[in-house]
Amino acid sequence: MSENQTKFGVLIKAGLAEVHQRELPEIGDNQVLVKHEACNICTTDYGQWMGLREHQPYPMAGGHEFAGIVVKKGPKVVGDFEAGDRVAVAYSFCGECDPCRHALTSECTQVTNEPTEDGYYGAFGFSEYSIRDGRVLIKMNKELSASEASFLEPLATVVKGLDKLRIKPLETIIVIGAGTMGLVNAQAAKAYGSRVIVTEVMPEKIEVAESMGLEVINAGDCNPVEKVKELTDGKGADAVIIAVGANIANKQAFEMVKKYDARILYFAAGYPAPELKVDSNFIHYRKMELVGTYGADMKDFFTAANLLNKKMVDVSKLVQCTFPLSEIQEAYKAASTPGSYRVSVIL
Ligand SMILES: [Zn+2]
Ligand SMILES: [Zn+2]
Repeated sequence: MSENQTKFGVLIKAGLAEVHQRELPEIGDNQVLVKHEACNICTTDYGQWMGLREHQPYPMAGGHEFAGIVVKKGPKVVGDFEAGDRVAVAYSFCGECDPCRHALTSECTQVTNEPTEDGYYGAFGFSEYSIRDGRVLIKMNKELSASEASFLEPLATVVKGLDKLRIKPLETIIVIGAGTMGLVNAQAAKAYGSRVIVTEVMPEKIEVAESMGLEVINAGDCNPVEKVKELTDGKGADAVIIAVGANIANKQAFEMVKKYDARILYFAAGYPAPELKVDSNFIHYRKMELVGTYGADMKDFFTAANLLNKKMVDVSKLVQCTFPLSEIQEAYKAASTPGSYRVSVIL
């Protein structure tokens, strides 16, 4: 494929991914031509493939967790990368709207979900080549695999959540759920200096969490709430990160935290939407903080790049398997298999 033609993966409808081809324009002064190396299939991507949440229009040229090599950069591009360097990609932003000027780039009001001229929606992560705004590219360590470097976006969302949770060294943080995002949260919280305990029921996931050196409660063969109390001398956790969207996780979080000034981070969404069954006096008298988080701003992406590049967060065990672009349908199938970690499409 030449540099002005690219193949790319696209969802035609739920359950059907195809490879299409399109022309790329010349790069603008502030743009960069990137040869993609890998793009990981996010929960939101395969949720749509499975028809669980058809939240984006078709044809959906999705994929937002990707890394690649700089081929050519426009004369006005700023950033510490040159042709041949590896970069990963943050969210688009305009830089001029009110949220952008307050550094809340993930809340940019100018980024819309309009189709391209040739009628496709999405971030085109599953492409061989793409043209990107130079400001959203961040240099990544070439010692990582391309699939590991593609964790920039998910880790950035974790960094934003931990920032909002204001975790301090030596605090005890419980992460409910050892899926991909649970284990990214756990590793990042550990890198921030916390004692981290993960709770999980699936034996395969428990094994992966333990192989990362994490403290794990097997919630399948004990009462995780009692176990947390036991492991914290009866005190309970300083904070809980809910990394699986489920009623049971919401309930356990309230029971696992310490009596006063505890924080709970709602990291994961769930479909159907999980419920919070609590009265406000409970929150009031216990001075509890309930914290929501979603997405990431540019500063979170830079912090995440640092954590990955300096290997303070190791995602190597979270790459389940890889597929070539030609087998993107198989890749979606693998990603949708319960218990699997990130499936990576190699481009
Ligand atoms: Zn994602
Ligand atoms: Zn903006």
